[in-house]
Amino acid sequence: FIVLGVESSCDDTAAAIVRSDGAVLGESRVSQDALTEAWGGVVPHVARDAHAAVIERVIHQALHEAQLHERDVDAVAATMGPGLEICLRVGYRAARQIATTYEKDFVGVNHLEAHVLVARLDSQVSFPFLTLLVSGGHCQLLLVRGVAQYEVLGGTLDDALGEAFDKTARLLGLEVGAGGGPALEQLALKGDAHAIPFPVPMAKRPDCNFSFAGLKTSVRVAIDKLGGDEVVRGDERLMADVAASFQETCVRHLEHRVRRALKLCAKHNLSANTLVVSGGVAANMVVRTRLQKLCERAQWKCVFPKVRLCTDNGVMVAWTGIERLRMGIADDTKNLDVRARWPLAGLGPLSVPIPP
Ligand code: ATP
Ligand code: FE
Repeated sequence: FIVLGVESSCDDTAAAIVRSDGAVLGESRVSQDALTEAWGGVVPHVARDAHAAVIERVIHQALHEAQLHERDVDAVAATMGPGLEICLRVGYRAARQIATTYEKDFVGVNHLEAHVLVARLDSQVSFPFLTLLVSGGHCQLLLVRGVAQYEVLGGTLDDALGEAFDKTARLLGLEVGAGGGPALEQLALKGDAHAIPFPVPMAKRPDCNFSFAGLKTSVRVAIDKLGGDEVVRGDERLMADVAASFQETCVRHLEHRVRRALKLCAKHNLSANTLVVSGGVAANMVVRTRLQKLCERAQWKCVFPKVRLCTDNGVMVAWTGIERLRMGIADDTKNLDVRARWPLAGLGPLSVPIPP
């Protein structure tokens, strides 16, 4: 079967048509990077208006690429949360409109579940598996027992990892048009990852939690020691060293936590032997190679979604619609609304299973 997925939780308006065998038939995405940069962040009503201005076009482009009409899809899925409510509603309403007009099943999708499950679109990943979700708003280690079944092993005590990349990119005065993470990763390529020995966060804490606020402060202090913003920003070598050292410290923090999570799985005899790295930061090549190596050594399989499916997109929403429909989960749009907060733990279906 074929599902249309719609995403509008933050500053990307996206849609995609995905078939249940994982084929992506059509895809379209409009990002608000320029707006976000101009306003110095995502301003909810500005973002909502930008979604509203393009949502119809984005959906039609995806359908057009797939050479399909609304009536040809079997179901419609839309991100219902977590995210900015007024933005989420733009995508939800457009999707609901199509579902009701053409009498299609509707699936309300959790954005975080979509980041995680998209790894199953083109890789063999069976349940249960472990996932490291590293995105703009989240940083968690979770055990995934099945669709809609998540247990949190650890989370961040302060910032998310993507947020830490974005803030550090801004501290360094980088142009963050396409996101602070990619800009910082590019800059770090030219630097020495061991130039500045930032302390690895919570290195002695024996749990699966994360913290990035202290590292941000360490970067601030290091820049001041090197002579302040002007000196550092005027010297590409120094900039690159700070970026590379920051990235290295983040990766070592992730390695500590993942190693610990793998041990926990062994200790509790959980049959998981695959780590899925998901969310925007999973696009980072250093994160990818280092976690891949760690898993190889521990004889675990390590899976990443394709790079372009790590950051927000419509494919992950359509795919999660497929995964939920396969479980017999669909949602009745009558009493449904978007959710600003919607944690993965205790997720379950939004409303009721479809009667057989
Ligand atoms: P959430 O999914 O938690 O609601 P979000 O949707 O805003 O948040 P994503 O789109 O999943 O976040 O990811 C965007 C984040 O990923 C940004 O913080 C961005 O800086 C980061 N990111 C993207 N590419 C890279 C990269 N190559 N290296 C590091 N970070 C990256
Ligand atoms: Fe996201």
